[in-house]
Amino acid sequence: MNDSKIKNIVILGGGTAGWMAANLLHKKWQHLGIQVTVVESPDIGIIGVGEGSTPLLKVFFDSLDIEESEWMPACNATYKNGISFVDWSTVAGYESYFHPFPTSLDFATFGFLYKYSTLRRQGLDLLAHPNRFSLLANLTEKRLAPLPAESFPFHFQYGYHFDSVLIGKFLRERAKEKGVNHIEATVESVEQHDNGDIKSLKLNTGEELSADFFVDCSGFAQF
Ligand SMILES: Cc1cc2nc3c(=O)[nH]c(=O)nc-3n(C[C@H](O)[C@H](O)[C@H](O)COP(=O)(O)OP(=O)(O)OC[C@H]3O[C@@H](n4cnc5c(N)ncnc54)[C@H](O)[C@@H]3O)c2cc1C
Repeated sequence: MNDSKIKNIVILGGGTAGWMAANLLHKKWQHLGIQVTVVESPDIGIIGVGEGSTPLLKVFFDSLDIEESEWMPACNATYKNGISFVDWSTVAGYESYFHPFPTSLDFATFGFLYKYSTLRRQGLDLLAHPNRFSLLANLTEKRLAPLPAESFPFHFQYGYHFDSVLIGKFLRERAKEKGVNHIEATVESVEQHDNGDIKSLKLNTGEELSADFFVDCSGFAQF
């Protein structure tokens, strides 16, 4: 990205994607004086559903230096160790399976899972259920959060369950506090340069919003 050319970024859409992008781009490039603007339509709603994440959401909040103690209570969030697949198999004793987010400890225990499974396939009567070999599956069975003591020598990763509407609001307020512009208007058409690059967005307020770089976070809406 050429910081001498790009001074204004416009993000179309104020759903989860738009406000995540706004927070990330502002944090990454504010020191270059790059201004980020989010334009969202008051007439086209957000999807705003979904309740669970993978560990990448932790990477996202960590990259913004937002503590769990700040965003989790604001978004009714709790920890997610993995995903339960209930009745995924008809084999007795294996009907349910907990798909964990792997920890570094699992790399040691999964070797035994492989051995147990191989022996079971060869006819030995061994319990080779994957849940027995995963740390997070065991924590979940005991209703424990994936928060070890600092001295715990293995790397953990986990996701979250949350209220996605509250996450959207939290990210919007955070971005605005940090200096991201927010325009409530509907984009009616897109103006292009001769080479096809986007020049500006025409709003239903009559305003024309130009920028050096555009990010399309308009979701499934057609315009
Ligand atoms: C049933 C269901 C369950 C789901 N579960 C999960 C889950 O557990 N975990 C997960 O991560 N994801 C989940 N998802 C997916 C997740 O909800 C969506 O990916 C996400 O909400 C999409 O956000 P978005 O910002 O891309 O789009 P949207 O929320 O649609 O936002 C679009 C934005 O663009 C704006 N816009 C559009 N057109 C214009 C225009 N012409 N002018 C101005 N503004 C405009 C709108 O105003 C809005 O602000 C689920 C989805 C569904 C349907």
